[in-house]
Amino acid sequence: MFSKALALAVVLCTCGYSSIASGDAVPKIAPAAALQQLKDGNARFAAGKPIHGNADAARITLADKEDQGKYAFATVLSCSDSRVPVELLFDVGIMDIFVVRDAGNVAGPDATGSVEYGVCHVHTPVLVVLGHTKCGAVTTVTRMVNGQSVKLEANIPLLVGGIVPVVKRTMCAHCELHGDALIPFATEENVWQSISDLFRKSPAVREMVRDGHLKVVGAIYDLSQGKVRWLPEEKVTSLLDEAEKNPAKTVEKFASK
Ligand SMILES: [Zn+2]
Repeated sequence: MFSKALALAVVLCTCGYSSIASGDAVPKIAPAAALQQLKDGNARFAAGKPIHGNADAARITLADKEDQGKYAFATVLSCSDSRVPVELLFDVGIMDIFVVRDAGNVAGPDATGSVEYGVCHVHTPVLVVLGHTKCGAVTTVTRMVNGQSVKLEANIPLLVGGIVPVVKRTMCAHCELHGDALIPFATEENVWQSISDLFRKSPAVREMVRDGHLKVVGAIYDLSQGKVRWLPEEKVTSLLDEAEKNPAKTVEKFASK
């Protein structure tokens, strides 16, 4: 059953991914322990006491020789914002986390495929969708929905278009709020949207969560404090249930070619 996945992995290896020796899952730390490592790393970073581990010459040499799937313990879908340095804020180093980034941490086709690679081939036991305060993508879309005229370059609407319904939903849920006051709530809702999209589009991700091999968590990085605020895990469970019931969900786990 892994033949197609392995064939894909071989193709991907030519593009710079580490080799996959086997389709079997690589034994690693449990999802809860992996999440705790991220929490501990962010606590060190926010306290101004990072250890900057796994960033020395020995680690560089190891990364060149080894399969990242034996080491990396988290996949992170984050915004591209320069104020959100993902490895730094979790105080991790080389070959520790598989990071996927785009403006607005949107789970479009490229990001979703990259997340599938991270959880299915790099075998990370945790997937974090990381939004952040003062997100430019969420701010821009919120202002557009509020009637401001914004000129966007040719490809940006394709990227951030999915945030429009997020903002509209936030406006409905918080009718007492107006203008930029909506942005923090839309930012959190956008994290849930990306998790929901990942579940709807990826049977592999759904299966790994159901089987207990993967924990998915939402989080918001606070630029002013350097702290990650972890969102309620119960919500993730309800989003998975909704995705399972969604008739528009992707059904086939593997690509046809
Ligand atoms: Zn952002």
